[in-house]
Amino acid sequence: MPLIIVSGLPTSGKTTRGRQLYAYLESRIASSSTSSSFPESSSNTNNPPPPPPQAEPPQPSQQPKKTTTSPHYRLHYISDTTLSISRSVYDLSPENLPAHVRSANALEKDARAAVYAAVKRVLSPRDIVVLDGLNYIKGWRYQLFCEAKNARTASCVLQIGAPVETARRVNEERLRRWEEKKATATAKKEDSEEKEPEAATASPPLAAAAAPPPPPADGNPSDDPEQEPYTPSNWENLVFRYEEPNAMTRWDSPLFTLVWDDDEAQARRVFELIWDAVAGDGAAKRVIRP
Ligand code: ADP
Ligand code: MG
Repeated sequence: MPLIIVSGLPTSGKTTRGRQLYAYLESRIASSSTSSSFPESSSNTNNPPPPPPQAEPPQPSQQPKKTTTSPHYRLHYISDTTLSISRSVYDLSPENLPAHVRSANALEKDARAAVYAAVKRVLSPRDIVVLDGLNYIKGWRYQLFCEAKNARTASCVLQIGAPVETARRVNEERLRRWEEKKATATAKKEDSEEKEPEAATASPPLAAAAAPPPPPADGNPSDDPEQEPYTPSNWENLVFRYEEPNAMTRWDSPLFTLVWDDDEAQARRVFELIWDAVAGDGAAKRVIRP
């Protein structure tokens, strides 16, 4: 079941859990391909999504004494951030649309096409894909479910639950920091323009940005592109449009859930269930019908 679709409200903790899950799966894959025992999970939620591990070349079966063999699975992490998709693509407010954009949700459709292509490129029965994103449209999750079937593998959904108020506060805090950063950048710019008055009068007025641009990815944790906020109207609209996963439908099952207050032990239990569904007995029992 190598497609794991993470879904949840904006700023509800999807990336945090997605990274933890990635670290957990990474260590399970490593331990299942070595003779050493399973190492403790050591996820650091402040780090950017880890890069996909490099698959080792397969070892000939005539060398049983080697302590490592090739990993059975390859692991991939795909998110809006890894594909450089801005939060603004989800913004349906006409006043926030760049002039060249065809219609209110054309940007979002393009973004979904990019995600779809990225998933399709790597998905196979040997490739576990953690897809971290809003994944809030049930038709879209159905499409991903069908793509997994096409790839002769299966999918599951990990829903991240957080109280709406908590998630809203996270976005507000990100907005506040974003505004502060913009104000500092503007002050610096004005300062340098004062020193060069001719250049300042010659430059055209700045157009108002439709949404805050992502900060440069220069390795500074405060510049993590994951921290890009949603505009308040975009955030509220996404919450309104969110279509809850439903475990009774084929495309949302099996459905796993983690909520904001779940501690590390509970997260680990859920990750173990996901591993079992992806690679353990649960996966072995599952018949993948074309
Ligand atoms: P999303 O990917 O849904 O936008 P993030 O994973 O980026 O959300 O999380 C938003 C913020 O909330 C981050 O600063 C993160 O540290 C914090 N956070 C996420 N999940 C939890 C949690 N379960 N408990 C406490 N803080 C959390
Ligand atoms: Mg995220």
